[in-house]
Amino acid sequence: MLKTFENRDGWIWYDGKIVEWNNAKTHVIGQGLHYASAVFEGERAYNGKIFKSEEHTKRLFKSAETIGIKIPYTQDEINKAKNELITKMDYKECYVRPFAWRGGKLMGLSTTNSDVHVSIAVWDDWSTYYKIEDMKHGLTLITSPWKRPSPESIPFEAKASGPYLICTLSKSFAEEKGYNEALMLDYRGYIAEATSSNIFLIKDKEIHTPIPDCFLNGITRQTVIEMVKEQGFNLIERYIQPNELKNFEEVFLTGTAAEITPVKSIDNLNFRTGDNTTTFQFMKDYKKIVTGAN
Ligand code: PMP
Repeated sequence: MLKTFENRDGWIWYDGKIVEWNNAKTHVIGQGLHYASAVFEGERAYNGKIFKSEEHTKRLFKSAETIGIKIPYTQDEINKAKNELITKMDYKECYVRPFAWRGGKLMGLSTTNSDVHVSIAVWDDWSTYYKIEDMKHGLTLITSPWKRPSPESIPFEAKASGPYLICTLSKSFAEEKGYNEALMLDYRGYIAEATSSNIFLIKDKEIHTPIPDCFLNGITRQTVIEMVKEQGFNLIERYIQPNELKNFEEVFLTGTAAEITPVKSIDNLNFRTGDNTTTFQFMKDYKKIVTGAN
């Protein structure tokens, strides 16, 4: 039988217990499913150890709090559960997906007495992500017509399921047109991010990146900022207009799954990629950090 994300061998941590992967089910009626009343994390383990596990758990709890979900576990319990699951699944390298959602005790938009569930799943196939060749040779991006909204419209710091509709729409727009990924602008028209990663632009020893005031300030983004500053690059966080893209030589994306991924083109503009680029050096340096070789 086809191995899908709903049908495979393995285990899932579900409301405090480890259950068989194929038994980790929920009802079709529920606020999480119907109203995207949910928050999640995306983490990655290297050599059996999750990179910045505690930071991710902290963000999960902050996201939940932001949308009014009270997770019925401590951060410590979630940290332990993630490790327990990775050990049980016997993974060294894997993706980690904690998820908290409102259940089906009540329906409708009132959340006052909702029930909350929590799950953690881990997997080691990256089939739903970019192809390895694309990641190596650089992605093709197209500007999405869908914009990151103002902070008055959505709590942008929360990694909440609801706002991901903007990312889903943008990603589909890009793929339907034959591109790998979408560049999202914000409600003011400035460059914001890609659908599951942040963006950096390189010109000589200057690295420019947008101010995360209406999109996720990724954990990878923060790691990379620290890394390039330590290497003596001039890191500039500022508002960036799309018509400035032509002034840059290299572009790359950052994210837990994307790590550092080079960008080959955005719309009809091309950027440098390959072994002789600063991005390539950063990719190697980042790998050293996450694998603990640094
Ligand atoms: N922006 C969006 C919309 C994302 O989904 C992600 C991935 N979590 C990121 C940025 C990068 O965040 P991180 O580096 O924490 O994975």
